[in-house]
Amino acid sequence: MKIRRSVNILGHDYKVKREPLGGNVAGVTRFPERTIALEKTLKGETLTLTFLHEIWHAYQYENGDMQIMHPQVQEKSCDQFASFIISLKKQKVI
Ligand SMILES: [Zn+2]
Repeated sequence: MKIRRSVNILGHDYKVKREPLGGNVAGVTRFPERTIALEKTLKGETLTLTFLHEIWHAYQYENGDMQIMHPQVQEKSCDQFASFIISLKKQKVI
């Protein structure tokens, strides 16, 4: 999947950057700046999964769900969303 440099989420533009994040951090969404940072060394399916995971964080932020969801539930939801989209793509549903 090609990773675009920006993505619009519920009317808000997010910049997408590749950068060295260090440690075991694959991706991070910076909400005030509306930036999604993806670890520079990621590629292939791991990159796509991380991108989709971070997109769902941004979606949860913009729709207000983040305010009412426990952080562990947010993480689980983001992982599930990313895996679900990947499975649809593998089936060529999308
Ligand atoms: Zn996360």
